[in-house]
Amino acid sequence: MTIDLRRFSINTATLGYQAPLSDTIEAVARAGFGGISPWRREVENENAPGLARQIRAAGLQVSGYCRSTCFPGASKREWLANVEDNKMALRFAAELGTKCFVLVVGALPPGSRSLPDARQQVADGIAALLADAQALGVSLAIEPLHPMYAADRACVNTIEQALELCALLDPHATGRLGVAIDVYHTWWDPKVHDMMARTASEGRLLAFHVNDWLVPTADILMDRGLPGEGVIDLGALTNSALDAGYDGLFELEVFSSRIWRLSVSEILELSSRACLSITRPKEGRLNSAT
Ligand code: ZN
Repeated sequence: MTIDLRRFSINTATLGYQAPLSDTIEAVARAGFGGISPWRREVENENAPGLARQIRAAGLQVSGYCRSTCFPGASKREWLANVEDNKMALRFAAELGTKCFVLVVGALPPGSRSLPDARQQVADGIAALLADAQALGVSLAIEPLHPMYAADRACVNTIEQALELCALLDPHATGRLGVAIDVYHTWWDPKVHDMMARTASEGRLLAFHVNDWLVPTADILMDRGLPGEGVIDLGALTNSALDAGYDGLFELEVFSSRIWRLSVSEILELSSRACLSITRPKEGRLNSAT
């Protein structure tokens, strides 16, 4: 059983930022996808309300807005500047009507070896954003990144860790704080299916990013695969999300210097084929197998 292409969204990074967002919106809609997830670089110096109108007119949802400035800084002043930058981004996120603002939380500031300190700065940073998120009606999605990134990109590395932060900072589950699950970062986790179900049951599954893990991986950042090219059991993972009641879009997010050499239309063609290649296991098989 496949998933309807309208349930998929294109993260514009997948297209290598080759065209202005206004062109990308039309191309993504024409290709039959149901949503788009733009990056700040494509929005902040442009006519954001106009882009928001164009996205709606094209019949697309905004599955996410990428992404936060990392929170930890080498000084209190740097931390504060990072928080302020994220507050500014939230205003654009609100204008776009996005499902969530994606938090890539950051890790060790230069010269630091203290992950506990970095994690505290992250918790404090998210706490400092929550009032603005509430006021603007924007949800914050913490994206746990693969542990390979724990030094430089994100010191939140598992879904469980993200959920603990959510429980600490938003104990009443207001809907304004949740998790963006990216299979690239979480597929290896023995608890991935259980944690996905828990995220959904706590009302915190805000985004779901799909792509694939290539073997071998030539570059940890820029060598992701399209669904079907690698070893991730995307059928099982999307099935778990749907079984858990996830009703959002599956966002295709593929950073790949190999794929970026292709044109936007070629990438979209490959992308739609790749998304439609994700086949859900027959009902019941997954549960009995795990
Ligand atoms: Zn992602």
